[in-house]
Amino acid sequence: MTESLQPFQPALRGLSQEALCALFAEKGIPAFRGKQVFHWVQKKGVRDFEAMRNLPKELRARLAEETRFGGIAETIAEKPSADGSVKFLFALDDGKKIESVLMPGSGADADKMTLCVSSQVGCAVDCKFCVTGKNGFFRQMTTAEIVDQALYARHYLARQNDGRLLRNIVFMGMGEPLLNTENVIPAIRLMIDHEGMDLSPRRITVSTSGILPGLDELAQSGMNAMLAISLNAPTQEEREVIMPITRKYPLADLMEACRRYPLRGGARITFEYVLMAGFNDSRRHAREIIRLVHGIPTKINVIPFNPDPALPYQRPTDEAVLEFAEVIRAANLTCSIRWSKALDVSGACGQLAGQYRQKTSGGYVVLPRE
Ligand code: SAH
Ligand code: SF4
Repeated sequence: MTESLQPFQPALRGLSQEALCALFAEKGIPAFRGKQVFHWVQKKGVRDFEAMRNLPKELRARLAEETRFGGIAETIAEKPSADGSVKFLFALDDGKKIESVLMPGSGADADKMTLCVSSQVGCAVDCKFCVTGKNGFFRQMTTAEIVDQALYARHYLARQNDGRLLRNIVFMGMGEPLLNTENVIPAIRLMIDHEGMDLSPRRITVSTSGILPGLDELAQSGMNAMLAISLNAPTQEEREVIMPITRKYPLADLMEACRRYPLRGGARITFEYVLMAGFNDSRRHAREIIRLVHGIPTKINVIPFNPDPALPYQRPTDEAVLEFAEVIRAANLTCSIRWSKALDVSGACGQLAGQYRQKTSGGYVVLPRE
């Protein structure tokens, strides 16, 4: 790819309209061209300078020479699953691999798709139940790389031409988004730009293990993105066992930050709870959760643990999962269960790219770590 040879050129997909116009001003290109290019990149989602039909040929050639789109360098795999999800495996400019998963809504919303995006290559948080964590951290993803997952998914859906639309974004793929606010916040700003993808901030959910400085930054960004907290254990001691980050950012402080988080009319914070057999799935745990979230507008999302040979936990039975959810619902809390999507293509959230390294269509352990 020629793009990958010029990593220092500005990546158009990561630039706001203002930044693009400023870049063009520097180059002596009129501001209105900046607006046109922004429209092509963010609204139309074109993936090729030639497609920018209202630009003079010379300008297109110059842009191709002096800038780059940035983002996904290559699509390695697009794997549709029997349940309507699609898993994408992408290579970035430096060859690093990341994944995104497109998932259908349920029932009447089957045509409204949710994209689970990655925000870092790997993750440094080291949660003991997570394949991404197990594999460690490689690097931050750029704004262009984060945004491009959504642009690519829209492009994919347009190609299918079957009425399905990208409606929601969840930052639940690889990485801890609040350890990359420098790129995640501008990426969300681009996703909600009325002159770009124009997604609703209420349909963008940032999922975090509880990085307090990042949480405050997100709150102060004024974007009103939705928040999901990976709770996973209801006491400081138990949470430290599976999420060592709890020592740095204690559970009580995390709950305090949730109470401060600005929620617009009727919005609620989602608490994700990965259910692991014999570790955090008892009635006592359910009751502790109820106590913990008291006073916070809350949705609980119970996620049956997705097992992996490299992880020391077990998935509870479906009955145990249902029973756990019932205890929470009995306290008048909303509780949904995330029966994993795309399991047949190893696309479950928290199981991205790491899994791909191990499982491929035919064999085992095919892709190298880099
Ligand atoms: N780093 C962020 C977002 C990515 S992880 C975070 O931790 O919130 C997205 C979700 O996948 C988290 O809620 C996490 O708890 C969950 N997850 C990780 N490993 C999992 C596993 N093996 N089974 C089920 N869910 C898992
Ligand atoms: Fe990182 Fe989230 Fe996995 Fe924890 S659960 S290791 S924060 S990706």
